[in-house]
Amino acid sequence: MLDGTTAEIKERSALRINPAKTCQPIGAMYAALGIHGCLPHSHGSQGCCAYHRSQLTRHYKEPVMATTSSFTEGSAVFGGMANLTTALQNIFSIYNPDIVAIHTTCLSEVIGDDIPTIIKKAREEGKVPEGKYVIHTNTPSFVGSHVTGFSNMVASIIKYLAEKTGKTNDRLNIIPGYVDPSDMKEIKRLLGMLNVSSIILPDTSGVLDTGLDGNYAMYPKGGTTVDNIKSMGDSFATLALGHFASHAAATQLENKCNVPAGFLELPIGLTGTDRFINAVRQYATIDIPESVEEERARVIDLMSDLHQYLHKKRVAIAGDPDHVIAMTQFLVDLDMEPVYVVTGTPGQFFERRINEIVKSTLPEFKAKQAGDLFEMHQWMKQKPVDLIIGNSYCKHIARVENIPLIRFGFPIMDRGTHRLFPTVGYAGAARLINEMVNALLDKKDRECEEQWFELIQ
Ligand code: SF4
Repeated sequence: MLDGTTAEIKERSALRINPAKTCQPIGAMYAALGIHGCLPHSHGSQGCCAYHRSQLTRHYKEPVMATTSSFTEGSAVFGGMANLTTALQNIFSIYNPDIVAIHTTCLSEVIGDDIPTIIKKAREEGKVPEGKYVIHTNTPSFVGSHVTGFSNMVASIIKYLAEKTGKTNDRLNIIPGYVDPSDMKEIKRLLGMLNVSSIILPDTSGVLDTGLDGNYAMYPKGGTTVDNIKSMGDSFATLALGHFASHAAATQLENKCNVPAGFLELPIGLTGTDRFINAVRQYATIDIPESVEEERARVIDLMSDLHQYLHKKRVAIAGDPDHVIAMTQFLVDLDMEPVYVVTGTPGQFFERRINEIVKSTLPEFKAKQAGDLFEMHQWMKQKPVDLIIGNSYCKHIARVENIPLIRFGFPIMDRGTHRLFPTVGYAGAARLINEMVNALLDKKDRECEEQWFELIQ
């Protein structure tokens, strides 16, 4: 399929080919699903909402509920106020959510619909029942990416709902970033081992990773409750994981409720997890239990045992910026060489940070923000790699170049178990090492000459 990709690179400023990102509302919808009893609402045409739901369903293998303002030509001319007020009335009378989280789309942004005014009007007209919540965020997809949409929605949730009573409690807020339900669950497990009580926002565990018990729940048991979100203003601190997805929300909470914020990268890999555990230790003034040290030691042992297979392997990595930054650090920890590093999400911070992580160990590497998979493929044509790490869209490159692909990040649409196994924490680090080593050894076993086909590795 990509046989025609050439090594010769022509500078492009107004064209992306196979962009390593998708549109803002997908991230906003995902974040909203992390509130208990929430129905995400897409203020735009049905096509946008159908696309966003289907992308999330393809990745999480779960039905994703969301409503839409169902714009037609009339809405494009006269604005979407009538559609949204009618939609709110219908949503509460038919589906009865605790909260509706509205995000905009390209069309409603171009029209310039004033969502807070529409919400206020719907409330005044009695279309929003007492005790129910309606919040919104702006997600114009002609800027940013799905990560920006996620960040905007989480910051808006804080803006609308967090409160400060003046009585600080013993809870630590965690803004976990645009990670899978399994990752949110793993962060909670680690916090449980550290005996630190916390509020995680958003929390899609128990929402997009539920089991099959024969019963359908429109609003599954999981998700951060509105009461817990309100009380985030009384927590003693917030840890924001990931510059692009989480910093805006933590800053919002700091400004609104004076909750001190700490900023970290995603706890992926050894250094990332160490920094997370250490930050929790400092904020919560606790000692690290032996059980956590044992988990860490097992990862160190794996890294040492399997170093011979990973050392100096050249890697191309593409995906969401917070994931890619953390993964790049992990590859450096493993003595691997992240030579090509791409994100589709715009932001100069990305290139600066990759440069800081990689430059002392790797003189030649390429990193690009607002980049695309086509250019990454062209770099590989110039000088190949041993491994690709990225989402399902990388599989075309992997196939044509015969390079193993580790599926990582969002979206993964051609495999089914990722949502249950974490990539964060020491458990996630062990899983990633396992996948990388197995992929490299499988290829060697498939392709090596008979005399090198070893039973014992
Ligand atoms: S890019 Fe804009 S128009 Fe297209 S699906 Fe996303 S929100 Fe809708």
